[in-house]
Amino acid sequence: MAPNITESDTINESLEVDNNNHEFNGEDWLKQQGFGTRAIHIGQEPDPHTGAVIPSISLSTTFKQTSIGVHKGYEYSRSGNPTRNAFEETIASLEKGKHALAFSSGLAVTATIVTALGSGSHIVSVDDVYGGTNRYFRQVASTQGIELSFVDLANPSDIETAFKSNTKIVWIETPTNPTLRLVDIRMVARIAHTHNAILVVDNTFMSPYFQNPLELGADIVVHSITKYINGHSDVVMGAAITNSTEIYNKLKFLQNALGAIPSPFDSWLASRGLKTLHLRMKQHQKNAMEIARFLEKSDKVEEVIYPGLESHPQHKLAKKQAKGFGGMISFKIKGGYEEARLFLESVKIFTLAESLGGVESLAEHPARMTHASLTAEHRRAVGVTDNLIRLSVGVEETEDLLADVAQALEIAVR
Ligand SMILES: *Cc1c(COP(=O)(O)O)cnc(C)c1O
Repeated sequence: MAPNITESDTINESLEVDNNNHEFNGEDWLKQQGFGTRAIHIGQEPDPHTGAVIPSISLSTTFKQTSIGVHKGYEYSRSGNPTRNAFEETIASLEKGKHALAFSSGLAVTATIVTALGSGSHIVSVDDVYGGTNRYFRQVASTQGIELSFVDLANPSDIETAFKSNTKIVWIETPTNPTLRLVDIRMVARIAHTHNAILVVDNTFMSPYFQNPLELGADIVVHSITKYINGHSDVVMGAAITNSTEIYNKLKFLQNALGAIPSPFDSWLASRGLKTLHLRMKQHQKNAMEIARFLEKSDKVEEVIYPGLESHPQHKLAKKQAKGFGGMISFKIKGGYEEARLFLESVKIFTLAESLGGVESLAEHPARMTHASLTAEHRRAVGVTDNLIRLSVGVEETEDLLADVAQALEIAVR
């Protein structure tokens, strides 16, 4: 682990960096270990100087050189920081990628990738991509000479017809938010590659524990670390993971040149959160499955959307491309806005709030909260109705969450 990007570095010089970067101190066997073992140990070796089992947070912005240009791999903290690099090493391993880069937010990752394309490029995305990504594409990228097409996922074959000669990227999420529709990663990767475009998959909802898009043909995986990976709702951060050294070098150059880097403290918190990702995801999923089944049986609920239910139209695809179904559920309560509001005001353990992926359970109203910025027409098109409620199921005790949902439904629907 000896990153070596200087202020003046060119893209090519950073190639060397990478080779050092992934030796994992010669502990190659560690890379062969299971998910939880890698989450806890890769990039997290005890401090060689003090023996501290938990590496300390490296706050220094600058690093001593013993002669001009002679140093231990670090010069200035924007171009390389030991705490950030440690996190990048871990997340690369968990996403089955060679390289990872951390950023100050999920959207900073998006901005950096789009900047790498240059003006005159065309992006194909899905119509219910994350709201902030949608806003960045439509209101920022579009003013910088980037062309966009949004494809209706109800007709996946439309992806094929959306390509132009200047299409550089296909950008998808699966499952989507908040209606949890799935995209066949393998299929879209194949289509993208026949058009000489690369596939970017936002894997935030599944986390690397349940889904590894790089293994299905994706070229870049992006994450909002803010959600499951940090997992404790106290850090905003993002990451990009890739197997392509060319893509990595380009993004590494921009990580330094644009400077949208996370702080050492946030990187450290994210590394700490990551160590329990496997434990948390198991419990998120167990709780979500039981709540989804309960909601499906309730006569106070019109429809439950959870990829783990056999009633989900893409349940088979979910089983094929992912190792689990995650912790997000959307459901339509019987009635309309009033019933949804009453439910959201009556839950006691679930907190009425935006965001997702933390240990605590959250509930929200997409039409008036996370997806309020969409036009009414767009909301209708992607199925965001006034009786739709989204749950980010936490890791509290299953019975307590079930009882909470039951009592709130009792109050909301009479
Ligand atoms: C939250 C989120 C983002 C944006 O990440 P930030 O860390 O909030 O910038 C992108 N994609 C998905 C799917 C998200 O949930």
